[in-house]
Amino acid sequence: MSFSTLLQTLQSIVGPAHVLIESADNDLVQYVRDWRGRERGVALAVVRPNSTEQVAAVVKACAASNKAGSGVSIVPQGGNTGMVVGSTPDASGTQIVLSLQRMNNVRKLDGGNGTITLDAGCVLQNVQQACFDAGYLFPLSLGSQGSCTIGGNLGTNAGGTQVVRFGNTRELCLGLEVVTAQGEIWSGLSGLRKDNTGYDLRDLFIGAEGTLGIITGATMKMYPLPAAKLIAFAVLPSLDAAVSLLQLAQKHLSAGLTGFEVMGQFALSLVGKHFPQQRVPFLGTAFSGVVAPYCVVLENSDQESEAHAKAQFERLLEEAMEAGHVLDAVVAENMTQAKQLWHIRESIPLAQAQEGLNIKHDISIPVSSIPEFVRVTDAKLAESFPGARLVNYGHLGDGNLHYNVQAPEGADQAEFLETQEPGVNALVFDMVMQFQGSISAEHGIGSLKVEKLPHYKSPVAMELMRTIKRALDPQNMMNPGRVIEV
Ligand SMILES: Cc1cc2nc3c(=O)[nH]c(=O)nc-3n(C[C@H](O)[C@H](O)[C@H](O)COP(=O)(O)OP(=O)(O)OC[C@H]3O[C@@H](n4cnc5c(N)ncnc54)[C@H](O)[C@@H]3O)c2cc1C
Repeated sequence: MSFSTLLQTLQSIVGPAHVLIESADNDLVQYVRDWRGRERGVALAVVRPNSTEQVAAVVKACAASNKAGSGVSIVPQGGNTGMVVGSTPDASGTQIVLSLQRMNNVRKLDGGNGTITLDAGCVLQNVQQACFDAGYLFPLSLGSQGSCTIGGNLGTNAGGTQVVRFGNTRELCLGLEVVTAQGEIWSGLSGLRKDNTGYDLRDLFIGAEGTLGIITGATMKMYPLPAAKLIAFAVLPSLDAAVSLLQLAQKHLSAGLTGFEVMGQFALSLVGKHFPQQRVPFLGTAFSGVVAPYCVVLENSDQESEAHAKAQFERLLEEAMEAGHVLDAVVAENMTQAKQLWHIRESIPLAQAQEGLNIKHDISIPVSSIPEFVRVTDAKLAESFPGARLVNYGHLGDGNLHYNVQAPEGADQAEFLETQEPGVNALVFDMVMQFQGSISAEHGIGSLKVEKLPHYKSPVAMELMRTIKRALDPQNMMNPGRVIEV
């Protein structure tokens, strides 16, 4: 089957208006360039189905065309906010971008079961709002929540700022609906918390980055809204102190600790530089004079009352100050201030993007080893790449750092990336391995790290993954070249 016959078939499935083809008048940049602006691919077409049946028919048509030798493949896409170049087409012009954005309905909200069942294209922020309006909390929370989708969150097993209490997206998911690589619909939208009837198919598709099938719907857990949510912003003498504060916070707040984010001084200074309208405490605006090597945002969600939450926070911070883990701290007085404090943390990736291209490392290390890892790796980087600037921040409560490397001040950033990225990556990832960590904590592998994975994952694990991929997608049609080469 030729591409033009395939495109006609796709038009008959989703309607001509929803098969987008790049032309002088039709710039598809939002679908074909990755969020970080690292790569721009070429799509055979962007296809926008609006139902699971349409997704299945599109996949069937592509599989038939592929069998006839066309070489077409499919790149599932949600909000295209992924960090590892996994949701945009390559340069071949043979890939269909399958955008789920039109599939954005809440199918069912079941308060008694504590679940919400959704189309995969629902934007995360709208899901949070739908749950909130019904009196529930949907805890998944990311800086990209205004654009990213539940399908993308599941595809990447996204983490975010509430993992310390609620786990990754995987832990929030009870059931999935998936269109397989053969175009069959697997309806596994169970709201069950217990179901031991064989292999866990759901967990295979979560975190597969669209390489095994297309998630079209999901049943997700909801939680009771807290009676009060308090945010503290603390200034710390060191990263060791941050680990000690985390332990203390877990002891004092227990399940109430719903966020624990660490931010290095340079990361915060970028927010101050690129978003000067934001008041960053301890950076000289709110509390002049105090310059902290590290700051932490802590969130305490309390099921009792605001007074209870405040008393708990005060006891925690008092003890932490006495022990020397905290130099100073501010607790938000109201929701507006709380949002402002969170916004500082959420602005770091955006401020970093404004500063220019950088080399990102989304790594995880056992929490207790993080200070030593940073000490040793900082020193090695300074020695091998003099002047390189380290943007260090992340979800310390989950042992997850965004340990990013920015070119030296005034250097040509693109040239730094081109010439130094392989060396910087090798140094950082080798250190991650020495500390028994992972080279991808939450962003995934995409095409950016696909060549590195075999170097850092055991041969047995790689072969098991290849076996699964070949069994579920024998034509290698689902997001090929991402996660694993077969
Ligand atoms: C400012 C900012 C902050 C971020 N913060 C975080 C953070 O704290 N934690 C975190 O984990 N990530 C974070 N991210 C990364 C990103 O937002 C997440 O990975 C998110 O889950 C991607 O969702 P998406 O809908 O944009 O997916 P996309 O970018 O469109 O796709 C991501 C991957 O999932 C696959 N995919 C998409 N939809 C489906 C589907 N329906 N079925 C199967 N596969 C699918 C794609 O093929 C691709 O491989 C951040 C990104 C930005 C820009």
